[in-house]
Amino acid sequence: MEWIDQLETVCRKYNCPLHRDEPLRKYTTFRIGGGCTALVDISSVEGLQKLVQLCNQNQVRWTVLGNGSNVLVSDEGYDGVVFIVGRQFSGVEILDGGLVRCQAGALLMSVAKMVLEESLSGMECLAGIPGTIGGALYMNAGAYGGEMADVVVSAEYLDEDGLLKTISGEEMELSYRHSMFSGTKRIITSVTMQLHSGKYDAIKTEMEGYLNQRRAKQPLELPSAGSTFKRPAGSYASFLIDQCGLKGASVGDAQVSTKHAGFVVNTGKATCRDVLELCDYVIETVKEKTGYQLELEPVVLR
Ligand SMILES: Cc1cc2nc3c(=O)[nH]c(=O)nc-3n(C[C@H](O)[C@H](O)[C@H](O)COP(=O)(O)OP(=O)(O)OC[C@H]3O[C@@H](n4cnc5c(N)ncnc54)[C@H](O)[C@@H]3O)c2cc1C
Repeated sequence: MEWIDQLETVCRKYNCPLHRDEPLRKYTTFRIGGGCTALVDISSVEGLQKLVQLCNQNQVRWTVLGNGSNVLVSDEGYDGVVFIVGRQFSGVEILDGGLVRCQAGALLMSVAKMVLEESLSGMECLAGIPGTIGGALYMNAGAYGGEMADVVVSAEYLDEDGLLKTISGEEMELSYRHSMFSGTKRIITSVTMQLHSGKYDAIKTEMEGYLNQRRAKQPLELPSAGSTFKRPAGSYASFLIDQCGLKGASVGDAQVSTKHAGFVVNTGKATCRDVLELCDYVIETVKEKTGYQLELEPVVLR
């Protein structure tokens, strides 16, 4: 039996259909990229474990996506299996003492809304980040002075061999847009956060304030992967790009947003090549004119 047929049999058992030659564009907020050999929207740790082990045994490449809001998929797509840790794996439990345990596919926005209803504070600044809890922990997502590191107390993950492990927040090496999961084959399956009791109205007002700031400043009406460049030490990418007169610069349908210079947006049919060419141009120009070295924030999936 071909490896893909074996995978399909496991998928049937765990009720997570396998899609062959699936376009990845549909699974990313940038709406860019080619297809993958197979895609599985996973629904349980056990199923994921079996699928990872089967891929490993057959030396088949695999990767994980959450909400696809921090990835740029190559035009050629991904030659391998993509596991989506998303909607089908998004349960949230509110435990005693402000502890909240989420399956990795839960969206930050949905969790933030749920904890608001319990008057739990700690996620106000994270609510507008359009990723999953797993994706957010992977890169220690943050905004408006807060980050995942402030609230995470532990997580469960599958290691490279598909074995389930538990890790504490302190062991995760969380720093600016980095964790011990970054660049590895570890798959985060659940995240536990410590929040604290607050006042419903105050939490709601703060959360809405951040969401309004996003709506006012970010080009949310166009596909993107959010901030395209990491914050360089001592400055801000958007400030530097703006200073260099690069707002509106474009290659094909990839454009430096005219609303927020830190975002590269897809104004129509941008390709991955367009985005990367534009980013190279921005990086070179900023280096030449200001001396700062910018670095891409989204993960490039090839
Ligand atoms: C409009 C917009 C605004 C944004 N604003 C912010 C912001 O304010 N702050 C910020 O930090 N980011 C921001 N982002 C970027 C993005 O939303 C975050 O990085 C988010 O945490 C990514 O989560 P995701 O589920 O979409 O991950 P994906 O994009 O699906 O994946 C990103 C990386 O994480 C890995 N990954 C995903 N899930 C898992 C998992 N369960 N286990 C292991 N690895 C996993 C993937 O393999 C990939 O390497 C923004 C993006 C957009 C489009």
